[in-house]
Amino acid sequence: MKSLSFDLAQACRDVEDRLVPRLPLSLLERAVYYHLLRHSHLESRRRLALSMARLGRTARVSGAAARIAVHSLAQKGALRVVGVSKRGHVLELRLPGQILDAGGAPPPPKPDLDSLNFFEERELRWAIHRRDAGRCFYCRRKLNARSRMLDHVQPQAVLRCKRGGMRRMHSYRNLVSCCPACNYGKRESPAPAFLRKLYRSGHLDREEFSERLRALRSLALGKLRPVLDAPM
Ligand SMILES: [Zn+2]
Repeated sequence: MKSLSFDLAQACRDVEDRLVPRLPLSLLERAVYYHLLRHSHLESRRRLALSMARLGRTARVSGAAARIAVHSLAQKGALRVVGVSKRGHVLELRLPGQILDAGGAPPPPKPDLDSLNFFEERELRWAIHRRDAGRCFYCRRKLNARSRMLDHVQPQAVLRCKRGGMRRMHSYRNLVSCCPACNYGKRESPAPAFLRKLYRSGHLDREEFSERLRALRSLALGKLRPVLDAPM
């Protein structure tokens, strides 16, 4: 058996007592960190290569959720993505003492949300629903897990014809939580026109109509960012 090059008991104490509160680490990030520690430093190696899909299976989450956790750990200085090999991402894990010696608490991470497909990954779809706080983005009706749907604000048919449209289509800037009636009612129509229709039919009052138009602008500007590291 290979000898340990570090004090495992001290490392665990440092993770629980110092890293978790200082970085801070979510439950998933903590699980991923321990998994990587097990397969790197506990095998007397600093680096390991693995795919995000495999890491996700191990942690019982999707590959997307694993990727987000690794990205966040890198932002927090807990690991470094060295490169990509045939086996997947090559990661260099830092021990708790190294992270703490380096300052330990860098600015809170800002995931690159624009690179993520929020439509096809279940956890990311949930992040959109969480952001919209259980209400239809258009008519403000209360939603539950059964009645909520995702709607493309700019219709897919429109974006397919535009340069860069495929990337914008499933962006958090183009997806909202909505009720089935609005999802079917809006179809391919522009969102402002659909909001006007709701206003004229009495589903929105004047104030709500104006507020929804402002929300649409905020959405397009990327101001309505979903939170990714909340429990999923
Ligand atoms: Zn609605």
